[in-house]
Amino acid sequence: MISIRRELQKSLMIALLIASIMLLLASAYGTLEEINELFDAQLRQTAQLIQQQEDALHIAHVSGAKGLAYPPGALALHKVHGEREALIQIWDTDGTLLYSSHPAIPYPDLKATGLVSTVFESQQWRSYSVRTEDDIVQVSQPMHGRARISSEIAMRILVPVLMLFPILGLFSWYAVRRGLAPINTVSAAIGERTPASLVPISQENVPEEILPLVGSLNNFINRLDNALKLQRQFTADAAHELRTPLTAIQLQLQVMMRAQTEEGRAEAELRLSRGVRRAIDLVQKLLTFTRVEPEGPVTRQEACHLNALVTTAYEQFADVAADKTVTLTLPRCDEAAVLGDADNLQILLNNLVDNAIRYTPEGGHVELSLALAAGFAVFTVTDDGIGVPEAERERIFDRFYRVVGTRTQGTGLGLAIVREIAERHGATLKVSDGKNGSGTTFAIKFPLFS
Ligand code: ADP
Repeated sequence: MISIRRELQKSLMIALLIASIMLLLASAYGTLEEINELFDAQLRQTAQLIQQQEDALHIAHVSGAKGLAYPPGALALHKVHGEREALIQIWDTDGTLLYSSHPAIPYPDLKATGLVSTVFESQQWRSYSVRTEDDIVQVSQPMHGRARISSEIAMRILVPVLMLFPILGLFSWYAVRRGLAPINTVSAAIGERTPASLVPISQENVPEEILPLVGSLNNFINRLDNALKLQRQFTADAAHELRTPLTAIQLQLQVMMRAQTEEGRAEAELRLSRGVRRAIDLVQKLLTFTRVEPEGPVTRQEACHLNALVTTAYEQFADVAADKTVTLTLPRCDEAAVLGDADNLQILLNNLVDNAIRYTPEGGHVELSLALAAGFAVFTVTDDGIGVPEAERERIFDRFYRVVGTRTQGTGLGLAIVREIAERHGATLKVSDGKNGSGTTFAIKFPLFS
């Protein structure tokens, strides 16, 4: 499992390791530079002091080329750094070695003045030479001692750096623990939420890093709360609506059981079967509604040929209309493609056509049309039926709402379904008068799919 704490600590430790290595390298390099300067200065000082010591030079001259004795003045000076001695050589101007502090080392006369680096017997050496009137004083030293001292110093730095690891590890563990504590608080707050109490999570003392997370969670909680409220309301409404046809069924059943004559019984049976059909209709509409309501499954998004769906609706309702002697026509059906869910769109069209036929008395007219207009496809259903009073034209789209006094059987869900599907497809709805001042026109404007 991914752990922010582990990741942070790992990154911190890696950063610390890289920083330590860089620190060690920089300090080793810096120390080497300093030691070089120091040792070079000591070589120079030694050479210059010997130069100034007339005695030493004199002894060197006296002792001649063999020069095995240490010049007394130089003896104290050639110890450059503890056991790391310097090789002191005095040459005359002809190149004859007058004196050597270590005669066994055949270090050559470099014939130079000042500081010189050279390789002698596969080793790096450093020499400083000064001229006197008659002689050359050359003080030399192998370089390896310097590198060793600088790495020794670097190693001494390594110890405190290594000690930093556990200390920093501990600090980072504590800091990360403290920093992540609000996440625990937030998760405890989420844990307390139940479907019955979906209160937003408090944003007080929430660090800015997790504030967006808490914000999104609160948004989600709000939407969930609204959806649950809608669900509860819907269930209550649905139960209430179902009670009416079920009570009617019960009454009709009783009437049927008490019927004395064959005709009375047949009449009661007919009523009962109508009642059952109404209940089935309502359940069917409820099911459709739960499928298309906002929190239901997401509408599919595919190119749908609206003209084909309109033709299907027209054909499906041709017989129903003929039965009721309502003239159903489709004078215009332009080709139009829209983006959405064909099944849902078919439900929308069918509901509108079904309503128009149901709310139009015998001998009436229902006209369907699908016309293209400036990037839109407009589907209209016009009837010359009972019409919808202007004041009711908004409300008829509410769930279970039916215009008072409507005698035609219905559930009050058909237009609520129409509105949901239209909204899901980005379509707009308009209700206006029907033809010749009577009836109703429902117009739905769909954005075209291109
Ligand atoms: P239902 O038709 O099942 O009652 P709807 O939601 O489809 O439910 O319609 C709601 C109400 O709107 C209907 O009860 C009716 O009063 C009114 N209505 C719908 N369509 C028409 C129409 N074409 N003509 C007149 N009234 C209509």
